[in-house]
Parts: sequence; structure tokens; C-alpha cells
Amino acid sequence: MAVSDHVDLATFIEGVKKRNPGQPEFVQAVQEVAEDIFDFIQDKEAYHSEQILRRIAEPDRVVSFRVCWEDDKGNIRVQRGWRVQNNNSIGPYKGGIRFHPSVTEGTLKFLAFEQTFKNALTGLPMGGGKGGSNFNPKGKSDREVMRFCQSFMNELYRYIGADIDVPAGDIGVGAREIGYMFGQYKRLTNEFTGVLTGKGLEYGGSLIRTEATGYGATYFLLNMLKTRGEDMVGKVAVISGSGNVATHAAEKVTQLGGKVVTLSDSEGFVHDPAGMDQEKINWVKQLKTVKRGRIREYVDQFPGSTFTPGETLWGVPCDVALPCATQNELTGEDAKTLVANGCIAVSEGANMPTDLEGVHYFKAAKILYAPGKAANAGGVAVSGLEMSQNSARISWKEEQLQQLLVDIMDGIHSRCLEYGQQGGGYCDYVKGANIAGFKKVADAMLAYGV
Ligand code: GLU
Repeated sequence: MAVSDHVDLATFIEGVKKRNPGQPEFVQAVQEVAEDIFDFIQDKEAYHSEQILRRIAEPDRVVSFRVCWEDDKGNIRVQRGWRVQNNNSIGPYKGGIRFHPSVTEGTLKFLAFEQTFKNALTGLPMGGGKGGSNFNPKGKSDREVMRFCQSFMNELYRYIGADIDVPAGDIGVGAREIGYMFGQYKRLTNEFTGVLTGKGLEYGGSLIRTEATGYGATYFLLNMLKTRGEDMVGKVAVISGSGNVATHAAEKVTQLGGKVVTLSDSEGFVHDPAGMDQEKINWVKQLKTVKRGRIREYVDQFPGSTFTPGETLWGVPCDVALPCATQNELTGEDAKTLVANGCIAVSEGANMPTDLEGVHYFKAAKILYAPGKAANAGGVAVSGLEMSQNSARISWKEEQLQQLLVDIMDGIHSRCLEYGQQGGGYCDYVKGANIAGFKKVADAMLAYGV
């Protein structure tokens, strides 16, 4: 058989940059994966070398649409919406919807690419996708959010389906938004299927879906700690963000005996040296989901805590860190500071919160470092369980689902160990996650032929 032409890593990345101009987050996500995959596929002609990765790094399709909606003053507002269907080799496209003013096509391409690997790691049959809009739900009335969600679905409904593409929530999209979008899909199609996950319990949602991402990231952290004979008891944890992922990570860390001392939002961070107990965490949950307030309000409620505006929290000394806010919130400098201050483990609740320099630093320092695609996969995993329950028209009990989440996170941890062990007791979890996720998707693609 003829041997095909191959390029080296640098040339490959140059190609990705050229084909995706103005999309640095997408290039970053592909580069982080490519660095490990190039190692793995060396001389493996069966994988057509890097050519199969090039196929995975080219979304199956990117749907882009206009979303018009009317604000409370009667103005007609126009936004852009997208759905990126990255890869459906191992199951229907699956991944959240993000509403945030920073959202671009490039953001969603990076998220859909990451999602493809993450979903493969869960062991469930789900491909990778992501959608969203540059709509900013902050400061909008409930009715404005409803009208936007309905208009967004008026376009999106053509491209999704319970066995085609199953969206869910992400930043700016929670239970309220999913309800409005699911309601609109149902009106438009006259169908009641599991076309979205993260639904309310009354209409097909799954127990523990809300908790799953934060809990899962904490279970993953615990699994990593156990490899070094450690547990969570007495560990000081810094957590960024204050949304669904951050608050549930805080809850699980606290339940396991750790002490959570920070939370944040785009305005700054709160530091509570006494630690956050369940009562404080419940207060934050209410603040964010009911009052839709800002984290700075925490200090008025809980004396002894401080609010630092305009800064990230990575300088607060800790044993473990859970970045649960957004992409590239933790830089190379921050990584250095964390390690210098004694942080031994990082588990990412957000998607790609650490920049490439930071990733390289954590790897070189050989700390326990779990990338988002492994650590935060608990959310989409329970979405997968929601899909199964919807298809079977049943609801599983909470204990069952809790156990399944633990089992799935254990499985992801084992898959990372299988491909990431570097000898000397060190596991490169980034490499393990990238290779395990890649192998599953690539093997399916090879089975189908080109
Ligand atoms: N947005 C979440 C993620 O980044 C969940 C996706 C889903 O449940 O489909 O994995």
C-alpha cells in the first residue's frame, strides 16, 4: 500500500491557524490535543497519522442564523446564533448552549471540539456539538429572556432532534432557558422527546443533572488525590465562578471534608477564610438562580469575608484548585503562583480554563492536573442518562443516578491512567484524556471509511 504524506506538529498547527483565521480559542484547543495525539500516532499508519485528527478538527457543519427578538421597550433586537455539529461518529451530537456576549463562532467551535473528546470519555454513545449566541441574559427581564429563547429555537429546531443533536445548558443557559427552549420546540414540532437535556423534573428532566458537573469534578479530584494516598479532608480549596458548576463543586468539596475559601464572578472574588458551609453555599445558589445577583453581595451577608474587585483568585494559598468559571481564566503566571503556594491538584470544572502556557506549566511541575474534558464530564454524562431515561420513558431514582455518576467518573479516571501514565507514579491526565477520547472517535471513523 502506498504510504501517504504526513506533516509534523508545527506544520499541522500552522494549517489549523490558516484555515480558522480569527479563532484563537479553537486553534488553542486543537493544539493542546494535537501535542499528545502526534506522540500517540507516530508510525501508526492505521490512523492515517494526523489526517484523522484533521478530520476531527473540522466540524461536520456550522449552522449560523439570525435571532430577532423584541425587548421590553418594543425595540427589535438582532443577535447571531450558531450550532456547531463537530462529530457524530459515536452518537448524536451532544453539547450545551451558551448565551454570553463573548460568544463567537470560534468559541463554539472550540467547545464543540472539546465536547467530542469529553463525551467519548464518558463511555456513553454521544457525539460532540455546541451552540449559543452573543445574547447577554444579564440584566434582561424574564420576559425578554423568554422571547429570546423562543426566537432562538425558531431557528435551531430544524437542526436538532432526540437522535440527531441534543443540546443542553452551559454558561447563561440554566433551567429557565432550557424550559423556554424546550417549550418552543414542543410547540413547533408537536413532539415530546428528549431533544434537550437539563429539563425540569416535571417534564422529563433527570435527578442530579444540576449537581452533576460540580460533583463530578470533585470526584475526579478525589480520585487523583487517592493516587497519592491523599483525600479531601482538611484541604483548602479555591474555586472560581459562582454558577451551577462552582456552587456544586463547593458543596461536594465541603461534604468530603474540604474547606472552600473562594468563589468569584466577572467583577472579582470573595475570600472567606472561615470556609463556606452548606448554609453559605445555599445562600450563593439562591443569589445566583433566584435573585440573579452578584457575588460581591456575599460580604454583606457573611462577616469576616472580603471582596476583591477586578482580580482573579489564583493568588489565594490553597491545597487544591477548581477553576469553574470560563475559558483561559488561569494563565501560565497563575499556574506558577498556585504551585509556588503549595497547590497539589487542579480539577477543571470549566472548559479549557487554563491557557496553553498554564497547561504546560502544570505538566512540567507534575502536579495532579485534570483537564476539563475529563474532570467536568459528569454534567454531560448525566445528560446522557437523561436521554436514556427519556427514550425508555422512565425516571431513575436518585441513589441509582448518584452511583452511576461515581462509576462514570471512576471510569474516566481509569481511562486517563491507562493512556497517561508516565512512569515514576506520575500521570499526565491531559495526555490520557486526549488519547483515550481520540482513540474511541478515531476507531469509529475508521470503521465507517472515508
Ligand atoms: N455544557 C456542558 C458541558 O460543557 C454540558 C453539556 C450537556 O449536558 O450536553 O459539558
